[in-house]
Amino acid sequence: MDAFRDPSVARERVLRSFHHQLENIPTQGSSFFIHLSELCPVACEHCMYSSDLERKSEKTALSKSELEDAIRFISESSSQKLNITGGGEPFLKFSSILRLLETAKVPRIEIVTAGHWATTPKRTARMMRQIDEARSRNAVNPELLLRLSIDRYHLNAPRPVRIEQYGNVLRCWSETQPSFAVGLRSIQPDMGTVDRAIADELGAGIAEVDGWNRRLLLPGGKTVPLTFNVFRRSGKALRLAEDHRDASKTIREYYGPFESQPGNLSLATAVNDAIRGDYTASTGVAVTLNSDGTFWIFCGTAPDRKLLLEKQSFAEAVAYFFDDPITHLLVYEGIWALSDLVMEMAPKTHAAALAKNDSASLVDDLLAPDDVRLAVTLISAQQQVTRNRATVDAEHPLAGLLADPAVDVAEMCCGLILGNRETR
Ligand code: SF4
Repeated sequence: MDAFRDPSVARERVLRSFHHQLENIPTQGSSFFIHLSELCPVACEHCMYSSDLERKSEKTALSKSELEDAIRFISESSSQKLNITGGGEPFLKFSSILRLLETAKVPRIEIVTAGHWATTPKRTARMMRQIDEARSRNAVNPELLLRLSIDRYHLNAPRPVRIEQYGNVLRCWSETQPSFAVGLRSIQPDMGTVDRAIADELGAGIAEVDGWNRRLLLPGGKTVPLTFNVFRRSGKALRLAEDHRDASKTIREYYGPFESQPGNLSLATAVNDAIRGDYTASTGVAVTLNSDGTFWIFCGTAPDRKLLLEKQSFAEAVAYFFDDPITHLLVYEGIWALSDLVMEMAPKTHAAALAKNDSASLVDDLLAPDDVRLAVTLISAQQQVTRNRATVDAEHPLAGLLADPAVDVAEMCCGLILGNRETR
């Protein structure tokens, strides 16, 4: 197939000719992840973002006016949940957190932090009061959860978070009773160690909930949810010891209960609720907005299809993403459908992507080679066209092939890619 001589150009041509016929593409958001900073003072050895205080890109955070654009976009998306999270430590942009808390029109907000800022009880109380006051100024009165990351890497980082700092947050929360909740998240290999050390610091107990979740029972009767995620071997953690391979389950095992049917896991539409131990299916799409201003459908966008947030409406952005057949595959068939395709045509790419055990990097890694991206585009386009969910312009040289259900496009692409790799 000539298209594979220049896969990027060929993919662009397919995208220009592809028109989906779906009457309803998502019109609202599910989870909206915003990364306020790519920097982090803690610099954990296992950081999936390889974050520290060294800038890795030209632009490490959103400007004031970009944050206002982001707030407009988030509110317009009617997302069910806003996650103020990774890329780095959001508390480096504390004023942006407060601004989001008081203005974003979403029913629920979760802030993810290492808690390094809780250096003294007094400072902790001041910052938690500011958070509480900002939330209470929000006209839609969002439910708020402050989530602390707790594991051995935070305790042993170049600028570690100390057990007393976690204690400062939890004690302050228990004593001042703000209008928001707190939660803790660790990694599976550290079950029973860091959570136990925090419980000892506070004179608290620990109760089992299930294989992934526990509750911290604070003196005075309040309880704090505690969830244990898989160990991700992406970012800096790629260099870490192999022993986590046995101690942590895989993302396939972790997300198994959240599949809509066996093998179909659409994180692109889920409301991410790890701290409550579930990912709720929704009709909206999850969006990640990075600190450099780019955004995409989480686990739903090819790496060459990310957008820069400007003045576009949420509907325009979603329409742009759905102009790509790959987004249809990821949203409606899920990430394992993509994984299975790539396993057949590029086993080494597949093995390296899965070895990271990280859903956030999986789609980008599986689709990094441009020939694989083209192949998945063609396979997904054929699926959409033959199911009468899309058309491809008749002038496109592959239009006939993509409309013919008797042609096994997947097998053709697979043979071509495997053949090309063997002759290199
Ligand atoms: S605190 Fe979080 S963002 Fe910072 S280095 Fe550690 S894992 Fe990365």
